[in-house]
Amino acid sequence: MSDYHLHLHPHADDDRPGPPVGEYPAGHIEAYVETLMRRGGGELGFTEHLYRCAEAQPVLGRFWEDGTDPDTAKFTEEMVRTDQGLSLEGYVTEIVAAKERGLPVKLGLEVDFFPETIDAVLELIAPYPWDFLIGSVHWVGGWSVDSEGSTVEFERRGIDTAWEQYFALEAELAASGSVDVLAHVDVVKKYGYRPVSEPLELYASVIEAAVSSGMAVEVSSQGLRKPVGEIYPSPIFLRMFQEAGVPITLASDGHRPEEAGYAHDQVVSAARDAGYTAKLHFDRRSPTEIVL
Ligand SMILES: [Zn+2]
Ligand SMILES: [Zn+2]
Repeated sequence: MSDYHLHLHPHADDDRPGPPVGEYPAGHIEAYVETLMRRGGGELGFTEHLYRCAEAQPVLGRFWEDGTDPDTAKFTEEMVRTDQGLSLEGYVTEIVAAKERGLPVKLGLEVDFFPETIDAVLELIAPYPWDFLIGSVHWVGGWSVDSEGSTVEFERRGIDTAWEQYFALEAELAASGSVDVLAHVDVVKKYGYRPVSEPLELYASVIEAAVSSGMAVEVSSQGLRKPVGEIYPSPIFLRMFQEAGVPITLASDGHRPEEAGYAHDQVVSAARDAGYTAKLHFDRRSPTEIVL
C-alpha cells in the first residue's frame, strides 16, 4: 500500500494536538511509518503545504486582494496568517534526513495553484530534490473553496457558477503540467454544495488537460472524513479518468500520524471499481506503475 498525500502539522484551526508548527520532534515521522506498517506497510509520500512556508509568502503575495468580497478576503487573509510558520528548507531537511535513516518516505509538496504565480513558485522550489509534486486548487481568487468558514460564497455566487470557477482553475492546473498529480480534484464538493447533476463537461475539461500534460490524479480518502462523506474524485469522475488512461496515486491527506493510510481499503476498492489495476510510485519525479 502507499499514501502519497501526508502532512506533518495539523492546520491552525484544528484543536487536536500536533507538534508546534515548524518543529519535528524525534519519532514524529516514524509514527506515520508505524501507522502505515500496522495497516499493511508501504511507502509514505509527504506533501507539506507550500503556502504555509515562510519562503512562499513573497511569491504568492496577498492573493486575496483581487476584488473578492471583503469578508471572504478577510477570512482568507486570517487563515493564511494563522497557518504560516513552516519553513520549506526545514521541511525538506527533515524528509531527506528520514530517507537517510532508511524510512520508506518520499519528498513531495502540495503546491497551491494560482495562474499568476505558478511560474515563480516553480522557480522557488526548483532547487530541492522532489520525488513528486501534487497540485491543488484551494482558492478561487481570494475565496477559500474548501473552508467551512467561507461556504457563504456558494450562495453568493450560486453553486453552478462556483463549480464552473473552480473547475476552470483545475483544468488550467492540469493543462499547465507544473506538477505530477492533481490532488483532491473535486474538493469543491467537500461541504455538500453540489449541482443537481454531476457536471460531466467540467470533468471532461480537466481530464482532457491531464491527458495532454501527462498528469496523474490522486484517489483520496480525505472526503470520507468530511461532510460530503465521499472519496475524491467521485465514482463517475474517477471512471472517466480511467477510461482516458490517466494514472492514479493513493492518498489520505492525513495531517497526523494516525491518519496515514486512512481508509486505504476503500480507496483501493474505489480505484478497482473504476477499472484501475495499477498505481504510481515516484522517484525524483519519475513515475513507475505498480500493481494496486
Ligand atoms: Zn489540499
Ligand atoms: Zn493536503
